[in-house]
Amino acid sequence: MPLTKDSIRAALSRVSIPGREGPRFQGELIEWVALCEAYVSVRVNDPGVPVREPLARGLAEALAAHSHAEQTPVQSFIVEFVDRAGTVVHTARPRVDAAPTSAPTTGGTTQPRAGTDQGGHRPIGGLGAAPASRAQQPQDTASGLPGVKSVIAVGAGKGGVGKSTIAVNLAVSLARRGHAVGILDGDIYGPSLPTLLGLGALEQATLAGMLQPFYVHGVKAITIGKLVDAEKPLIWRGPMAHGAFKQLAEQTNWGELDYLIIDLPPGTGDVSLTLAQTLRLSGAVVVCTPQKVAQDDAVRAARMFQQLGIDVLGVVENMSWFIGDDGKEYDIFGRGGAQVMAQRLGLPFLGAVPINMALRANSDKGEPLKNFDAHLAGPVLAGALESLATRVEQEVAIAEMRRGARTPTLTVS
Ligand code: ADP
Repeated sequence: MPLTKDSIRAALSRVSIPGREGPRFQGELIEWVALCEAYVSVRVNDPGVPVREPLARGLAEALAAHSHAEQTPVQSFIVEFVDRAGTVVHTARPRVDAAPTSAPTTGGTTQPRAGTDQGGHRPIGGLGAAPASRAQQPQDTASGLPGVKSVIAVGAGKGGVGKSTIAVNLAVSLARRGHAVGILDGDIYGPSLPTLLGLGALEQATLAGMLQPFYVHGVKAITIGKLVDAEKPLIWRGPMAHGAFKQLAEQTNWGELDYLIIDLPPGTGDVSLTLAQTLRLSGAVVVCTPQKVAQDDAVRAARMFQQLGIDVLGVVENMSWFIGDDGKEYDIFGRGGAQVMAQRLGLPFLGAVPINMALRANSDKGEPLKNFDAHLAGPVLAGALESLATRVEQEVAIAEMRRGARTPTLTVS
């Protein structure tokens, strides 16, 4: 039987807080359970420093027992402890003892790649058409990729505005909200996911002719940067870029995803055209810095999406302002410029992200989860990234309703 969020919640609710008298660990203490393939994460209210790790181990044991009983292996398990404000104060990655058939789990900050049962590096040309594994995939969905509900492209008019940074943090933020999320490095001319996600030593695996995405920081990721020599310049001709992008999108074993984020190359180019021809997108997010020159390029990018028949979900203003050590806010690039541009084009404004040194450092180290830790990166950044994900969720829902892919639901409780 496949594991479900409810079955996991029920299994974990039976765990007691180590060394504590009184009632057992109540299920209500579990804020949410997220499940994506064989990857499980839960968020629980913090019971206090001394019992965090023992409780995490107890939860892992209960999860292991449940996964053995259902004969469905769990590959990784993350327990996030949150305070009353919902801020993550501690993250534990306890081992879930593998069932005899399952792949090993690790306890480092980087999660193991998916599909560790088939290792080995293969060039992208070694991928098969994989009709057999395609047949095992879930039904075709609105996106055109089996199992993938919504595809969101992240584009920018010019390089260096933080497009990849926003794409990665949007993906992680959506995953933290309990969604199953994938990210594809469509920036095949200058792939940055290996750095931003810290894929360093991990090797690309293929299984039955399909690429197995890496599973890191709660998201599944695939990048051309792991298939070609990262040090060598990537000189693609149009048709090669077209083929490479299509292979990455279509020959990756995404499994079931709520959102697939695509980090596009900057500008208005051939990959965007391939994207529009290959997949049915929910829409595109345009990243822009506040300056006039950046806005002009972003307008061109937005127009390109519209010409390709891709809805623009909205505009994000990155590097919007800076908070100095003195606590004062400095509008270095002219805060609000991109917002005005969005209004002028009649596009939704999805939010503003400040210049933040921790964000830059965490990006360089490939540790995006730290951006959401208010103690490490400050409360403003985490809040901005979280509200960006909420706005994107809303705009995707609206875009899909407009397309008729989703019907509105009314919940009465
Ligand atoms: P692009 O994909 O548009 O070329 P990147 O996402 O690679 O841009 O970002 C370029 C550089 O700017 C990176 O070093 C990144 O860490 C940094 N950066 C992006 N956004 C911010 C921000 N809001 N605060 C601080 N540094 C940022």
